[in-house]
Amino acid sequence: MSTKFTIEYADRIKQLPPYLFAEIDEKKVAVQARGVDVIDLGVGDPDMPTPAHIVQALQLAATNADNHQYPSYVGMLSYRKAATDWFARRFGISFDPATEVVSLIGSKEGIAHMPLAFVNPGDYVLVPDPGYPVYAIATSFAGGIPYMMPLKAENGFLPDLDGIPDDIAAKTKLMFINYPNNPTGAVADYDFFLKVVEFAARHNIIVCHDAAYSEMAYDGYKPLSFLEIPGARDIAIEFHSLSKTYNMTGWRIGFAIGNRKLVAGLGKVKTNIDSGAFQAIQEAAITALSADQQCVRQMCDIYRKRRDLMVAFLTKAGFTLASPQATFYLWINNPEGMCSAEVSTMFLEKAGVVVTPGNGFGAAGEGYFRISLTVSEERLNEAGERIIQALRV
Ligand SMILES: *Cc1c(COP(=O)(O)O)cnc(C)c1O
Repeated sequence: MSTKFTIEYADRIKQLPPYLFAEIDEKKVAVQARGVDVIDLGVGDPDMPTPAHIVQALQLAATNADNHQYPSYVGMLSYRKAATDWFARRFGISFDPATEVVSLIGSKEGIAHMPLAFVNPGDYVLVPDPGYPVYAIATSFAGGIPYMMPLKAENGFLPDLDGIPDDIAAKTKLMFINYPNNPTGAVADYDFFLKVVEFAARHNIIVCHDAAYSEMAYDGYKPLSFLEIPGARDIAIEFHSLSKTYNMTGWRIGFAIGNRKLVAGLGKVKTNIDSGAFQAIQEAAITALSADQQCVRQMCDIYRKRRDLMVAFLTKAGFTLASPQATFYLWINNPEGMCSAEVSTMFLEKAGVVVTPGNGFGAAGEGYFRISLTVSEERLNEAGERIIQALRV
């Protein structure tokens, strides 16, 4: 073997930002090693099991040998029909299951593949900051240039479209938006979506709306689909996920719905890279989407109680925050004079509580930290007490 042999990562890998949770995990392990019972309010992964009727549907479907072969990369027609039927019931608009929806191996897969289908090297992509890290990374992987749209409290954590320079908009191929929003918990109203349609149509920009939290909403609030807005069907694709709605993050199933050509482009990438989702999982997903949605209402009830509990603790600890109408995240201003990294280190060291530093979601997230409500009320109570204690000393 030649001694000159070296293994070098590609530039796109070398240029990756450090994985947000890797550093936090390292610190968490170190604190746990000291014997601290760490409460993790960092990662947004539902703690409760997938509802039993969905698990049973998988058990049954897994025994069917027809499901053991390669699936269709765009998904079974029956799954796509269950998706469009669910969509029509939920949002009151119809899509063609044969051409306007594609199955995804989790919505992350579709989001990550979207720039490969539509972005040429050098094209700009508008990305919310703070935001789900996949938008910017998938853009860079395709050779595109992410252009950050800061989400500011004074704008309700909606991007300021008027602040995007015309010469940037002219070079922009695609934009990502995400409401209800991770990490801020913000929601978008009809007027904002209408502005996005108008802006995107004017500049010929494809809109990718990430609707992963469309069902996690409280106090009677019902999130909109971007596709409800007149004109959206001509320019947009929306990403839906069963992960958060049905506690199915490990199953990897979702779908993208919207403009036929956008759906087809995503399908072209998928047919060349993956071979679709396990059919037994699609069968179980049909059950999830088609059955009574009681389990979703129950989940929202649980998250709402947790939200109220944690907001009360944080208020008592001296923080000022509004209760989010959707998502299972709290997005909180740092204590006076501390940066986000200091806050997360302080809570870990002094309270044994993991929170996510806001700047991990982008530079504009500096000044905030995120709490995820994906632990039991009992653990949240404990975390709340410890946070109050930590800030006292
Ligand atoms: C969780 C999450 C997703 C991804 O969900 P999948 O499990 O890949 O379907 C997408 N976008 C946001 C903002 C998320 O928080």
